[in-house]
Amino acid sequence: MNLMNLFNRANISFVCGKGAKLYDDKYNQYIDFGSGIGVCSLGHSHKKLISTIQNQAKNIIHSSNLYHIKTQEKLAKLISDTLGYKTYAFFCNSGCEANECAIKYARKYGYVKFKKHKFEILTLSNSFHGRTLATLKANGQDKFHPDCFSPYPEGFKFFDSIDEIIKNISENTVGVMIELVQGEGGIKALDKSEVQRLAKVLKEKNLLLITDEVQCGMYRTGEFVTSKHYGIKPDVITFAKGLAGGVPIGACVVREDIFELGDHGSTFGGNFLATSAGLCVLKELNKLKKSSKLDHTISEFNDGLSIFVSKYPKIFKEKTGLGLMLGLKVNDGVDFSKIYDLCIKNKLLILKSGKDILRFLPPLNISKKEIKEGFKRFKKALDEYEI
Ligand SMILES: *Cc1c(COP(=O)(O)O)cnc(C)c1O
Repeated sequence: MNLMNLFNRANISFVCGKGAKLYDDKYNQYIDFGSGIGVCSLGHSHKKLISTIQNQAKNIIHSSNLYHIKTQEKLAKLISDTLGYKTYAFFCNSGCEANECAIKYARKYGYVKFKKHKFEILTLSNSFHGRTLATLKANGQDKFHPDCFSPYPEGFKFFDSIDEIIKNISENTVGVMIELVQGEGGIKALDKSEVQRLAKVLKEKNLLLITDEVQCGMYRTGEFVTSKHYGIKPDVITFAKGLAGGVPIGACVVREDIFELGDHGSTFGGNFLATSAGLCVLKELNKLKKSSKLDHTISEFNDGLSIFVSKYPKIFKEKTGLGLMLGLKVNDGVDFSKIYDLCIKNKLLILKSGKDILRFLPPLNISKKEIKEGFKRFKKALDEYEI
């Protein structure tokens, strides 16, 4: 093969899908509880998303940001309307790019508001913000900072708790970037009162609260943004994964537009294809939430996982996470990779997180039938593990 050796891939090649079902090149049917790492929020082959993309492609895919792009303007407005307050959006193509924009925004903010070079961004241990050099350095895990990629950009420090973050705000600090529910670092929902305390401290000091909602945003936890669960209005929110149902996109959304012409940009970012897909996905998800279908699916999925925790006490310690961003933490000595492999063997796709969490990010419109079938396969995998 002519691919760089960067991913640990299972030996499966998918050719098509429908809803939460995927089919491989040998006609095997899998239940997808991972949504391509939280990306396919409307499942696979969603009719409206297909027709939106087809119709858009017939007219125009890309014009560049040298011209007005109506679908981009509409998506920026829909994001602001859904949040319920005025925001300004920049569109890019991935999560790390959205966070790069947030980092540049924060540095500019420091420069403009404090008339000095205030640049430091504080993050939490076990956080994940991306794999570009700056976002890599922002990640709160030393395993992401090997010497071979050094030197890294300066201005990032991470701490074990929100309390430590607050204590370590210095003259140089311009903001704090957090995932309200940590994704890669172990499906951990942060404590609400701690987050609110942080938001208050930052507001008093005029510093920025940046929430990385690349994984936990876009209704993944049951609300459009996880910030809503926490009762906060961050200064900067970043989106990506679930925003356009699989078409590459990222967004950095701010409450005050301090950028000037030329401060930032993107060739592909916000093109017709990606933003028309994003518009379709967000409209569909808004409907799903309004109809209370999403809330029903959330209770059903959570109840199902809780039952596994109580029925397999030797394997599981607890259920973690929020909405449809869920984890099952395994007990010490349990090989979670083996359970993951047994799920694949039983034609169920799940994800791993951290060192001991099985992660579930099903499509947000997954059907009762698909959930039931997936749990049946999960039970088989667990029974094979116990043998
Ligand atoms: C996946 C992820 C990113 C990085 O997104 P990419 O599109 O892979 O660059 C950043 N932050 C969080 C919270 C993520 O889950």
